[in-house]
Amino acid sequence: MSDPVTMLKAAKAEGKKVVGFYCVYAPQELVLAADALGFALCATKEEPIADGEKALPRNFCPLIKSSYGFAATDKCPYFLYSDLIVGETTCDGKKKMFELMKDFKDVHVMKLPQSNLQENDHQYWLSEVKLLKEVLEEKLGVSITEEKMRNAIRVLNEERKMMQELSSLMQADPVPMSGMDMLKLMWGRNFVFDRSDFAQQLNGIIADLKESVAAGEGAFPKGAKRILVTGVPTGVGAEKVLKIIEECGAAVVYIENCSGMKQFVTLVDENRPPLEAIADKYLGIPCSCMSPNPKRMEMISNLVNEYKIDGVVDVIWQGCHTYNVESRILGKHLKEENATPFLAVETDYSQSDVEQIRTRVQAFLEMMD
Ligand code: SF4
Ligand code: SF4
Repeated sequence: MSDPVTMLKAAKAEGKKVVGFYCVYAPQELVLAADALGFALCATKEEPIADGEKALPRNFCPLIKSSYGFAATDKCPYFLYSDLIVGETTCDGKKKMFELMKDFKDVHVMKLPQSNLQENDHQYWLSEVKLLKEVLEEKLGVSITEEKMRNAIRVLNEERKMMQELSSLMQADPVPMSGMDMLKLMWGRNFVFDRSDFAQQLNGIIADLKESVAAGEGAFPKGAKRILVTGVPTGVGAEKVLKIIEECGAAVVYIENCSGMKQFVTLVDENRPPLEAIADKYLGIPCSCMSPNPKRMEMISNLVNEYKIDGVVDVIWQGCHTYNVESRILGKHLKEENATPFLAVETDYSQSDVEQIRTRVQAFLEMMD
């Protein structure tokens, strides 16, 4: 019964509703408050890309082609069993993909503002969050009460605090856990059925890591180069660059992107009206789809200092215009603000450029000596 797909089928058989989403802008508190299971959907494997390309242009980002390939072929059980998909207009490719997806699945698309800096951006996004609440209530046949929202906020805030604590242990030298293990842990969080079970597991891992730090034990030798990885989501199946960095002997001590810490770094304010607080937390996410996006620059500069980062690696999927352009802005910012070595790696999900990336990463690390 521990196999997640078996658990998913059993939960469905018991009448549990399932909501799938593709992005960290999807407010998970509302899904939890609707008593539904929420899953971040499969989008990081190379295998479904060929199926995705049957409907989408080949020069699209691999994440979108992988998402669509999984969806169109029923190869992702979490998609298959979802009662509703929550999409969002983060980038042009995704918003057009959702139009195609609507032909065979119930999809609700949240329309994001282009910026998160003005008051009217917040007012507009609040109306989208309210609309999602109504859609969830109608489609799932539930009532999302204020009390349920407050409870969901508390549960997910506790989880975020634990993830922050776990991540802060990576400030130690030697670093107690590899970036690859950290990634697997954060990836696993996307497929959780029981949040209190997961919280217990996290507590156990935090305790173990604290012991390792106290004993001076680490996943890499003391003094290993400390790398922050940012950019596009690089979940399990698309972890190529992260893996290469660690195979070259450096430690990935912080994964800033959406398959890493991005969604955990800010809490929902528990003292405000729930919908407003939820809306503001999510709109503050510094994805490159925001234009301009100064919050990402500030956040990464602060992390470089807190985690004593030796170099920043920005991973960009081919066909992702916003992260690709923003890479130039980020590189310039880090040079001026932190004087931090910066490497931009544009790639896709294939293995064809592994050796070329390895050569570039090795040269990048040698440059820091
Ligand atoms: S990178 Fe942007 S679009 Fe992609 S999951 Fe993160 S917030 Fe969503
Ligand atoms: S990586 Fe870029 S192009 Fe791909 S889905 Fe995310 S924002 Fe869109």
